[in-house]
Amino acid sequence: MKLLHDTITKLTLPTPYPVGDVHVYLLKGDTLSLVDAGVKTEAAWDALTYQLKQIGYYPNDIEQIILTHHHPDHIGLVGQFPRAQSIVGHKNNDLWLKRNETFLMHYEQFFKNYFMASGVPNRYLRFLDKLDKPLRYAGVGELTAILDEGDVLPGHDDWHVIETKGHAQSHLSFFRETDGAFLAGDHLLKHISPNPLLEPPVDKQSDRPKPLLQYRTNLLKCQSLGIRTVYPGHGEIFTNVDELIPVRIEKQEQRAAKVLHMLTEKEQTPFEICEKLFPKHIDDELDLTMSETIGQLDFLESEGHIVKTIDNGIFIYQAK
Ligand SMILES: [Zn+2]
Repeated sequence: MKLLHDTITKLTLPTPYPVGDVHVYLLKGDTLSLVDAGVKTEAAWDALTYQLKQIGYYPNDIEQIILTHHHPDHIGLVGQFPRAQSIVGHKNNDLWLKRNETFLMHYEQFFKNYFMASGVPNRYLRFLDKLDKPLRYAGVGELTAILDEGDVLPGHDDWHVIETKGHAQSHLSFFRETDGAFLAGDHLLKHISPNPLLEPPVDKQSDRPKPLLQYRTNLLKCQSLGIRTVYPGHGEIFTNVDELIPVRIEKQEQRAAKVLHMLTEKEQTPFEICEKLFPKHIDDELDLTMSETIGQLDFLESEGHIVKTIDNGIFIYQAK
């Protein structure tokens, strides 16, 4: 007999990151799947096995891993389920799961070039030496099947795949229309707005993705889906998506207005804007703060409020 609904069980694992705990979800339908795989630490593994055991399962029972995106706190334990024959997610996860050398070099080079062109002084570029540090907590593996917008989740046929790029170029969420359940990864969180992170284009010839624009588009897309309950990667499970999405959009536009105001006073590089927006965090979190700044600049540019010129290889933005 087919169950009317797959059951969703939240399991909470620690991470070594400031974000705190991460949730993975056990999805029990025709297949027993784990949505996301925590971070690769002993503490996370212990927490996972303990919580599985409390509900009568062992890691060996997991048949499939479904990934929301490639960040280390979501793919960490991916290789530790011997019976999981299938690992599914967006195709861009493989660049990280397989540690594609060419891509990782391209990734590092992209940041070096882009940050220099954004006016980041040399003394900050030491951050680039730390780019591969997160890989310490990431799992290694390979997708067995690729998911994309509109696909049905294998083994869970009332769930559909919703592409939600922005926070990551591999980001997918999963939606069940019958009751409005939404496995959100880091796309929708109750307590914080996810960082739309800068990433290089997957192939060198393409233009870079504009993560804040993608995030906005996908927020608006989610507003019309009929989401009732959000099962996020971090923080509480929540329901008030109709109220939350407009708040996220409004906060982003307020920050964009602040940036526009700065540019009305004088033309500036992305780094100069970033220093003013995030004086306290820029030193420790150059990548996050620059991603946010560049996102706001992309937004203002797409709305026709500002223009970018290139002077001696450096990006200068000015208000129109
Ligand atoms: Zn993430």
